[in-house]
Amino acid sequence: MDHFDYKDGRLHCEDVPVEAIVSQLGSPVYVYSRQTLVDHYRRLADAFAPLQPTICYAVKTLGNIHVLKLLAEQGSGFDIVSLGELARVLHATHDPSVIGRVVFAGVGKTDAEILEAISAGIGMFNVESEEEFENISRLAARIGRTTRAALRVNPDVFDKQTHRYTTTGKKGTKFGVDIDRAPAFFAAHGTDEQVALDAVHLHIGSPIYSAEPYVEAITRALELIDRLRVDGHAINALNIGGGFAADYEEGKSPAAADYAEKIVPLLQDRGLDVLIEPGRHIACNAGVLLTKVLYDKQSAGKRFAIVDAAMTDLLRPALYEAEHVVYPATLPDGEQPPVRKVDYKPPGGQLVDIVGGVCETTDTLAAGRCLPELHRGDLLAIFSAGAYGFVMASQYNARPRPAEVLVSGGDWRVIRRRETTDDLIAHERAEG
Ligand SMILES: *Cc1c(COP(=O)(O)O)cnc(C)c1O
Repeated sequence: MDHFDYKDGRLHCEDVPVEAIVSQLGSPVYVYSRQTLVDHYRRLADAFAPLQPTICYAVKTLGNIHVLKLLAEQGSGFDIVSLGELARVLHATHDPSVIGRVVFAGVGKTDAEILEAISAGIGMFNVESEEEFENISRLAARIGRTTRAALRVNPDVFDKQTHRYTTTGKKGTKFGVDIDRAPAFFAAHGTDEQVALDAVHLHIGSPIYSAEPYVEAITRALELIDRLRVDGHAINALNIGGGFAADYEEGKSPAAADYAEKIVPLLQDRGLDVLIEPGRHIACNAGVLLTKVLYDKQSAGKRFAIVDAAMTDLLRPALYEAEHVVYPATLPDGEQPPVRKVDYKPPGGQLVDIVGGVCETTDTLAAGRCLPELHRGDLLAIFSAGAYGFVMASQYNARPRPAEVLVSGGDWRVIRRRETTDDLIAHERAEG
């Protein structure tokens, strides 16, 4: 699943013992494995190879420019949702063919974002409403440019295992246009002079733990595309979105090949260019958040390990009730490496809540876990933290955001330095 393994009782990222990073940089710190990012990208590319898809990595998942550069080198395009993400991509690469594989999603694109994206020469917009389409067309005309768009349709499909906060393809969410309204949309805008509307986009949520919701949504999209073609529209591409799951626990996620086995046959020989927008599947297991135990505390018969990371560093448990495997980075003498399951119970383990120091009750990183006895100074790894980890970090409680490190084999380097207290107030200093 990744390149985080215990060797002689010490957690390694590839060939680097993670303690070595913390002893130089302190904690908390995000550590990413280059090889895991590359492996996960390649497995998706290989699994979907019969479709020769355009892979547009979702920048919002883990948007560090060094990670984007690495994925661009692998041939990835990008799925962006803001001007800031466009700037990140442009910082990572100037290759026009990569920029041509950028797709721009989101329900609230501003004029400035649209103008910049058109000027940069992105591949296409994923359009989410009629007014937005008209706005893109008007802005393109203003600067004398043309561009391309896919209509994001809402297929009314969802995965019951997906948290309600991350379900996007169900009726009544803010995303996309009801699939029933798509023919009228194409009738109104299919011959726009500024914006070639020749594609359909889906993104049904995240994470999706089986291929079935994709099959259902793609089947509906293909019916729509048939209908649109009968109506005389040239439909050249289908973007099936992201949402492929990751192993928050060992063996939980289908492999890229399991999704592809069901999806590829549906899309072969359809005369469609296929795009996919994976984020989590590539980045999640490629990162851990390392944190140190500050205090061991007992209260009302419960045990708490108070750590130096908090919801400000990793928001997912507080935001989505997400469960990450947490385990000491150094094992007690002779102990076996853990099974990466939330309910794993090591011999002699104790129940503990892992909590941060922020003044919020939701600042619990993991509740009711069975772990070897913890002491002040112990280093813990919060696994599967590469996706929607650092990118959601905040400075709440005036906490500087952590550093990010990229490991490659036996080497590691800082790809984002730890913020300082000066960084916290830098934008508030009086000018001059
Ligand atoms: C967030 C998002 C993705 C990526 O989702 P993952 O679950 O990380 O693969 C892809 N497409 C769109 C439109 C998104 O909003």
